[in-house]
Amino acid sequence: MNQTITGPVAPAPDVHSPKAPIIDPFGRTISYLRVSVTDRCDFRCTYCMAENMTFLPKKDLLTLEEMDRLCSAFIARGVKKLRLTGGEPLVRKNVMSLVESLSRHLESGALEELTLTTNGSQLARHAADLARFGVRRINVSIDTLDPEHFRAITRWGDLAQVMEGVEAALAAGIAVKLNAVALKGLNEDEIPSMLRFAHARGMDLTLIETMPLGETGEDRTDRYLPLSDLRRRLEEEFTLTDLPDRTGGPARYVKVAETGGRLGFITPLTHNFCESCNRVRLTCTGTLYMCLGQNDAADLRSVLRAPDSTEQDLFSAIDAAIALKPKGHDFIIDRKTSGPKIARHMSVTGG
Ligand code: SAM
Ligand code: SF4
Repeated sequence: MNQTITGPVAPAPDVHSPKAPIIDPFGRTISYLRVSVTDRCDFRCTYCMAENMTFLPKKDLLTLEEMDRLCSAFIARGVKKLRLTGGEPLVRKNVMSLVESLSRHLESGALEELTLTTNGSQLARHAADLARFGVRRINVSIDTLDPEHFRAITRWGDLAQVMEGVEAALAAGIAVKLNAVALKGLNEDEIPSMLRFAHARGMDLTLIETMPLGETGEDRTDRYLPLSDLRRRLEEEFTLTDLPDRTGGPARYVKVAETGGRLGFITPLTHNFCESCNRVRLTCTGTLYMCLGQNDAADLRSVLRAPDSTEQDLFSAIDAAIALKPKGHDFIIDRKTSGPKIARHMSVTGG
């Protein structure tokens, strides 16, 4: 089902109070909003972007004030966790002013967690402010600890700069989780050393399967590594004990006896996690995607920009959008389906 709502949505007959939770047609309560604050990035990771990307014109982007207004509407309707992502969130000009303004919802208690996913390149200069504005945990994406492999995977990245960012975040008291995309023939042999490195510094490590999102100029079937295989190989070296699922998210965690740390697996291809999905994604142009792996979307920017639009108009548009949330995705990577399942890049929807 590919549906797009354009233009202001007529107020729903059942007008919601600001406190009414957002519940989708399958009874799932939406409590987690991921916001892509920019589609731009200072890296060009081979599985994520093509080297020559065409980015959105700046005029199409929501202003930071518009983002704040939309996020605040979601928070008023029960969103408890908000993640800023991208693209690279920390390359958006003045992004810290958005973090600062959103932090009022942490202070009021309406929001439980404000966090971000970053490539770490700009983290050293922002870590102290992030901590000051109430960010307690962040995810940093690092696929390898080898500087040359890092450059090859990110095309433009500098591992030393990212490591400086990680250290700055830890020094500021922010808990860091490392995210690594498992890439056949690129970093698969490095996972044990990354595990030891992360756990020795008190960081969790989460492994992610490559997802078929957007053209990158590469064939993903060559790099796709099922995490079920990787887990079996890790179990030859480590004792992994499943932990109960408490996040409601896509990651399944295990405890690693030898290191005492936690290892997560995000397996959109080998394990379907949709039944407990509690999240939606907002792009930097104000399009709300109800599922990372489907095209159902709603244009909230036109509601925001409609003359005299009220908070109630936003609530109604959010409700109409959530009514389209699909049951789940159906990603597949195989020889017959090697092109992207979804044409938009992860950097647009917000990974
Ligand atoms: N630039 C930031 C970063 O790299 O952390 C935030 C955005 S990035 C799109 C978010 C996460 O998505 C990263 O951990 C990245 O490795 C992951 N990612 C990007 N493209 C992916 C794909 N096609 N399949 C799986 N993970 C992907
Ligand atoms: Fe940029 Fe993150 Fe995509 Fe890498 S994964 S190109 S850092 S948005």
